[in-house]
Amino acid sequence: MILSNYHTHTVNSDGNNTVDRMVERAVERGFTSLGFSNHSYTKHYEGGSIPPHRIPGYFEEIDAAKKKYGDKINVYKGTEWDYYTEDDGFDYEYRIGSVHYIEEDGVLYDVDISGGDLINSANKYYNGDIFRLTEIYFEHVADLFDRVDCDIVGHFDLVAKFNKNNSVFDANDPRYVNAWKKAVDRIMKHDGIVFEVNVSPVYRGYRDEPFPSVPMIEYIRDKGGRFIVTGDCHESGALGVWFEQAYALLDSLGAEYIDFEDIVKNKK
Ligand SMILES: [Zn+2]
Ligand SMILES: [Zn+2]
Repeated sequence: MILSNYHTHTVNSDGNNTVDRMVERAVERGFTSLGFSNHSYTKHYEGGSIPPHRIPGYFEEIDAAKKKYGDKINVYKGTEWDYYTEDDGFDYEYRIGSVHYIEEDGVLYDVDISGGDLINSANKYYNGDIFRLTEIYFEHVADLFDRVDCDIVGHFDLVAKFNKNNSVFDANDPRYVNAWKKAVDRIMKHDGIVFEVNVSPVYRGYRDEPFPSVPMIEYIRDKGGRFIVTGDCHESGALGVWFEQAYALLDSLGAEYIDFEDIVKNKK
């Protein structure tokens, strides 16, 4: 098991703890590295993302933690880069690429609020065709990796966050399966991109499996894709939760996982 986490939020975006507290907790848990990935700025998520003018202060906090805890743990400056963020010119050590919203008629709608909300958006924009919504979602995910130099695929099937027991749509429907397979194929054309196995929907009780789902992990594995386990942690208590199960799952599937720290180090 690799004790590191590259998907970490703090009070700088929508997390509950400071940079310092998160690092302190990671050290207590015996982590070897911790990367911060607060939400890049979008007007749509004004209160939960970091506007560019607050990035220097955020970086200073991380630098202070690097200094304070440097002999115990390696700390990295990353970002969870949203599809709708415009380049801010800052030098991040890595980027998680994530799609949280989709724009229709000049308005952004969220894909991860609730199942009912997703159905409402499908009714409003696609004549009730929920599979059209999922197709557009996965096109956005692939487009993001064509457009922005990201290292990690963030919560690949976020659109299925509320789809436990296929309660919103049939995840075996060929249209859904083709949509995500196409996105995987497009992303895999870029070298070195890893898929996160994001355990947050499990420990938060939304799903029985992480993002991405098991069939997706198997498909990505067969295409030669690699994984890192992340907690998408919004509070210090979440660090390392369900990691053991996630690594056991990847082992049982014969999926290759890596220590993301090696990639960050090699980028320098
Ligand atoms: Zn996210
Ligand atoms: Zn996140």
